[in-house]
Amino acid sequence: MGLDDSWFTEVDDDIKTAWSAKIRAKVYDRQTPYQHIEVFETEGLGYLMVIDGFTMVSTLENFLYHEMMAHPVLFTHQAPRQVAIIGGGDCGTLREVMRHPGVEHCVQIDIDEGVTEAARRFFPELCEANDDPRAELLFQDGIQWMKDAAPESLDVIIVDSTDPIGPGEVLFTPTFYRACHRALRPGGLIVQQSESPLAHMHILQRVRRGYREAGFDAVETLFFPQPIYPTGWWSATLGGKGQNPREFRETDARNKPFATRYYNADIHRGALAQPEFFREAMEKAEPA
Ligand code: SAM
Repeated sequence: MGLDDSWFTEVDDDIKTAWSAKIRAKVYDRQTPYQHIEVFETEGLGYLMVIDGFTMVSTLENFLYHEMMAHPVLFTHQAPRQVAIIGGGDCGTLREVMRHPGVEHCVQIDIDEGVTEAARRFFPELCEANDDPRAELLFQDGIQWMKDAAPESLDVIIVDSTDPIGPGEVLFTPTFYRACHRALRPGGLIVQQSESPLAHMHILQRVRRGYREAGFDAVETLFFPQPIYPTGWWSATLGGKGQNPREFRETDARNKPFATRYYNADIHRGALAQPEFFREAMEKAEPA
């Protein structure tokens, strides 16, 4: 069955599948020095942002990803004050971080200002915290920023990057993870979107291995739904620097002082459950 050009289609070469959304029009198309950014008005998802042909966010479902990239790690840290987001140019993760009243400062470092410009136009609801006095937006390569970061200056690092291709590739390397480990205070945590456990286990294992090689003493992977990414089942991997990623502030999460649409303490506990195939694969790849 062929799809005519009233559909946007992303093909995943790992498992040879495709994902499509019926579109009304392409409303934005910009080649920046780093990436090709497109935004489509769709029939069923609202707006859809695509970077280099890969889906990023849509109006309808982005809360799943942004809430799960922010709240588990922030409720796992004992008292998160200084936060850095690497990537995250659509600003949805920043919005979630700003919901935590204890956070004193969150700096978002995205390489491509074009992504935030597109988000401001078509996803203004994701940018509503950009003017929070605690928020700082920088546009540069995240790995260089992290290398230059002062040692033990951060409590939480959120790596909300594209896939490990193009400018995002460097954010999946031990060099980057070592820079993150150095920038984190004792008790600090990193979380990175770590692709699909079904289609990209090789990348997921590369993230976990890279964390350990960089000196993180505890690694944990969270699982959650992600409708517009390959297989619809996604992951984020936590690394602790003297903080066990499985031990989160459950009472605080249960009494969170803000509304969410997906995250809560039960979802958090459930996201930590390890599927059997995953547990077995990790036991083989990471013998105790
Ligand atoms: N939710 C999306 C996903 O999982 O694919 C990611 C959201 S966000 C749009 C990804 C961001 O990573 C983009 O804005 C891109 O510009 C940024 N990025 C890629 N490589 C980067 C780098 N080396 N330093 C900083 N930001 C980078």
